[in-house]
Parts: sequence; structure tokens; C-alpha cells
Amino acid sequence: MQDRQAHRSARARISEHRRVVVKVGTRTIVARGGRPDERRLSALVDELSALRAGGREVVLVSSGAIGAGVAALGLSRRPSTLPGLQVAAAVGQMRLMARYDKLFSERGVTVGQVLLTHDDLRHRVRHLNARNTMMHLLDQGVVPIVNENDAVSVDEIKFGDNDQLAALVTMLVDSPLLVMLTRTNGLRAPALGKTASAAKRTRRVPYAPRIDEQALALTWGAGDPLSTGGMASKLLAAQAAADVGAQVVIADGRTPRVLERVLAGEDVGTLIGDGATLDGRRRLPSRKRWIAYFHRPQGTLVVDGGAQQALVERGRSLLPAGICAVDGQFDIGSVVTVRTREGKIIARGLVDYRSDEIEKIRGRRTADIARILGEKPYDEVIHRDNMVVFE
Ligand code: GLU
Repeated sequence: MQDRQAHRSARARISEHRRVVVKVGTRTIVARGGRPDERRLSALVDELSALRAGGREVVLVSSGAIGAGVAALGLSRRPSTLPGLQVAAAVGQMRLMARYDKLFSERGVTVGQVLLTHDDLRHRVRHLNARNTMMHLLDQGVVPIVNENDAVSVDEIKFGDNDQLAALVTMLVDSPLLVMLTRTNGLRAPALGKTASAAKRTRRVPYAPRIDEQALALTWGAGDPLSTGGMASKLLAAQAAADVGAQVVIADGRTPRVLERVLAGEDVGTLIGDGATLDGRRRLPSRKRWIAYFHRPQGTLVVDGGAQQALVERGRSLLPAGICAVDGQFDIGSVVTVRTREGKIIARGLVDYRSDEIEKIRGRRTADIARILGEKPYDEVIHRDNMVVFE
């Protein structure tokens, strides 16, 4: 009962959001042969334009470049090599944007293309530039259409997939809402009831305040992580966005008027996050967000119980004394993960010392740093201001 009430008020919050990031997957907008699916694209652009007309700010994160490139190049299937994918993306991105530009123009909406790599959001200065550009586009009423810059992306600078990209864009522009349009109506769980037929059926999960192990297990239930990895990746991306206070809805992009219904607070798809950001409680400052979510950590510091308490309960910096082990090689200013001996991740932060230096001073008192290293530029290994502690 309480759940239903919590769900209802979380849905009600959605209609108050003035800014929304919408992510569409390739299979939602590209027909079987790889050509953009005109009917779907028109329906999507209709909905997005209506949101604009209603005064909302809209960012579209669209996949489909590679799919469109495959069709334009007359290939029989998706290339499997990196150069092949880059060629398809370079050709297809233009085609896709040409379609969007035409459809949006016909509805009086101006669009702008923003292509990003992970590198662009990881470096602080480029991150701020990208954020400024997006904010200026929104200020001027333009709908930014974002995709990964696949033509120049190689593994080291890739986001992983567009679900991740969409979550990061949501954080980048401080959007309170992310809608992921896919081909299933949200997350599914085994049907309630104990009969044999119930065991085979599934039901939609309408609301998940947060994504826990249990929710993730649902996506792996079939025992084949590959076939359902799509939903797992969506849930992880959704949780990252929800961690900073955004609400995320995963819904079927083929449902008529799906965006209108989501924005009206109707019970469609799966809603993740209670939207508590509205009262400002959970808001992480943008620099801390950048530390926590826009990096691939370069190493790990394992800490003892005392340090864990100091970080989590007392809001202190991480001192060398509480560090039991160092994993990985990294330089000053790298982002590392802080975890307990039991493996629980408790924080992420920018280090003031190199990994080999930390190896020498771990377990020692701050007063000993100068004697051991010959100098003591900082008292702490990670300063509180450069650290995000997870709940
Ligand atoms: N960026 C890719 C494309 O436009 C899609 C990647 C993804 O969907 O995860 O084709």
C-alpha cells in the first residue's frame, strides 16, 4: 500500500519537470534493413516537438548512426571491425541527422548536433565546455541531438553504449528526467502467484525507487547475460542518473503517445527514482558529480573500519593511516575507488599522491609522510572536497 502511494507521488513529480533527456535506441527508429523507420521517426519527432511547444526543454540522445550507415553503404550486416563501424557511423550519422533536421524543421523546431566521446566529458575543461554548449543550446530553444562520436571513438574513449551516454548527458545538463525508449515496456519480473502458469509469466515492474541487486538479478534471471544485457545496462545507467536525484523511465518506444503519457505521470514502463532532487536533499554539486560518474577509476584504495567510519559517518578526508592496500598504478589527480576490505565501494575521489607513494605511506601516520617520502605536500591522500561518499 505504502509502495503504491510512494509510486503515485513519484509519478506525480514527473509532470513538474521542465527539462527532459530522451534516449532512443537503434531498434526503435531504424527498420530491419537499417534504413531509418519513417513512421517511427515522425511519431517521435511529433512528440518531442509537442514537448517543446509546451515549454519544456528537450535533449535527444539518439542511436542509429551505424544502422543508417549500414543501409547507405549497401552492407548486408553490421560491420564487426572498428574501422568498419567507424565508416558506417560517419556515413550514417549524417543521414540520421538529415532525417531529424527535416522532420523537426517541418514542425518549427531547430536542432543542433552534439557528438561526444568519453574523453570529452572526463577532462574537466572539456566537460565544462560541453556543458556550456548544451546549456546555451537549451537557452535558445534548440533541441540538441546527441550521439557518441563513433567515427573517432576507440575502446579507450568509448562510453560503452548510449545508455551510459544518456545518463551522463542527464547529469551534464542537470536534467531531472531521463526517458529511455526501448522495445520492452520497462523491467519485467516473474508474475506473482505460485501456480505453474504464473511461474512462466512475467509482469511489469512499475516502480523501483532504486536499482538493487534484486532488480539487476531479474535481468540475468534467464541465465544468459548476453541476451538480456541490454536491460542490465539500462538499469545501471538509470541508477547512476537516479543517484544524483534524476527520475528515469524505461518504456516501450512503440507505445502511442508514450512521451506525453510519461510526462503526464501515467503508469507506463518502469520508473526508477523518487525524484527527491526537487527538495534539494540529494543534489551533488556538479564538480562532485564529475568526480563520481564521469571517470573510469584508475585504481582502488582498500581502507580499514576506522577510515570507513571517518569517511562515511564523520565526513572526513582519507588519511594514509586507514589505507590497507593499493591496487593499480596511477598518478596524482587520478580518480580512484575507495572500498572496504569486504569489497564494498564507499567512495570515489581524486588522489593527492601517486600509487607508489601511497604504497609507502599506507598505514602510517600523517606526521610520518615527510620522513618517508622526503616531503609532505598534503596531509591527506584524498581531500574531502575531492571525494564523493556513496550512501
Ligand atoms: N552510437 C551508436 C549509433 O549511433 C549506438 C550505440 C548504442 O546504441 O549503444 O549507432
